[in-house]
Amino acid sequence: MAQKLIIANWKMFPTKPAEAKRIFSGIQKGVSKVRGAQTVVCPPYVFLPELAKLAKGGKVKLGVQDLFYEESGAFTGQVSPAMASAYKATWAILGHSERRALGESNELVGRKVRYTIQQGYTAVLCVGERGRSEDGEYYTFIRTELEAVFSGLRRKDLERLVIAYEPIWAIGKRAEEAMQTRDLMEMTLFIKKILTERFGRKPAERVRILYGGSVKPNNAAELVHEGGVDGLLVGSASLDVRQFLEILNVAAAA
Ligand code: PEP
Repeated sequence: MAQKLIIANWKMFPTKPAEAKRIFSGIQKGVSKVRGAQTVVCPPYVFLPELAKLAKGGKVKLGVQDLFYEESGAFTGQVSPAMASAYKATWAILGHSERRALGESNELVGRKVRYTIQQGYTAVLCVGERGRSEDGEYYTFIRTELEAVFSGLRRKDLERLVIAYEPIWAIGKRAEEAMQTRDLMEMTLFIKKILTERFGRKPAERVRILYGGSVKPNNAAELVHEGGVDGLLVGSASLDVRQFLEILNVAAAA
């Protein structure tokens, strides 16, 4: 059985380095006992140097929550793939809805995904609709988000691409407000169809699809099992060691 991919998005938390180290160490300790799951933690950049030391030799991989599409230059406030990889980051969440809400366009996200993959990272491309209406126009919205990025990718880039489907309306809520698994399965199949249309069946099969949005210990197993996804992107519950390890365990067994 393929390993489930579980990614922690810490967002702009925690506020203190000591707390970041405590959470990371707790996750790392618990992960050493979990089989069947691949774990990636994406902290704020500033914690990377300390967490890279803790991550050394362990099973937990490090990622970041955004990256820029140049190596260096006059780009105030940006961080390049080369800078983060010096601290062992090999994964990057790109196009998260909280960044898109600050003005990131599909075109910008596409550029970042292309460049980041070229630099040897695995890109976790986030897509998701703001809301759902009866006429199903959210499918067109997701198709547009995906195709904007796919148009710049080569088949071989797909080895380093993960798609995280995160409906915005389901982010940051309680477990009961996460997506229904039947609806998730439909969306998973739709994403696979778009991938296959553009790249062909075999290359498309290599792309892992994750779900994100109010994943908690009590809904993780059914989301993975009945939603047809390869893993989960976990926000707030990933800052709670006990909850995150429980999610890992149940998802790995699903
Ligand atoms: C996220 O924002 O990526 C996310 C999945 O958040 P939460 O789990 O808190 O809904």
